[in-house]
Amino acid sequence: MSTSVESFADLGLSESLLKTLTEIGYETPSPIQAQCIPVLLDGHDILGMAQTGTGKTAAFALPLMETIDIKVAKPQALILTPTRELAIQVAEALQSYAKNLPGFHVLPIYGGQSYTIQLKQLARGAHVIVGTPGRVMDHLERKTLNLDNLKTLVLDEADEMLRMGFIDDVEWILEHTPEQHQTALFSATMPEQIRRVDQKHLVDTNELTMKAA
Ligand code: AMP
Repeated sequence: MSTSVESFADLGLSESLLKTLTEIGYETPSPIQAQCIPVLLDGHDILGMAQTGTGKTAAFALPLMETIDIKVAKPQALILTPTRELAIQVAEALQSYAKNLPGFHVLPIYGGQSYTIQLKQLARGAHVIVGTPGRVMDHLERKTLNLDNLKTLVLDEADEMLRMGFIDDVEWILEHTPEQHQTALFSATMPEQIRRVDQKHLVDTNELTMKAA
């Protein structure tokens, strides 16, 4: 696929998101965005080899936002990140892309934060959860997080989650999510264990390799 896409409008995004991108000053898609957005909008799974700083957050966030039904205040997308810092950063990015989506709610949940606060926020309802694997697993086990309405699952910086010892938690989460959802796995490197996660949990994967922008 060509990566010399001139505009976000060529990628199939809605008018509302296009307006937001103009407002926040995104003029042209980065190569990873040009490659991923149409494939994800088509509903395929993605295994993306991509570094930070390539624009990968928008590459997975924009297509998943197109699938969110605002009227349903239940988690429809789950993004797993290795650290709380990344969870917060990704949640903030989604919030900025949701500027023309009134009622959109994204919630970061991570280890170290009080359960009381998280339980209150989860009970209020969120469309997208961005979380670290251990805490997401805890909430699933306690049944304080329900993924029955899940449409999209993103594993961000999968090799970092592996390096930090979270891969068993990630696998557990993948085994406890509904069968029917789209999965996007991003990793800067592709160690054997990440390939195994792909082979076991992703369907008919589109493998994309991106260099830093
Ligand atoms: P990321 O790799 O997702 O962490 O993004 C790196 C930085 O690039 C972030 O500050 C984004 O807001 C910014 N960015 C992502 N895509 C674009 C784009 N198409 N145009 C301008 N800035 C972008």
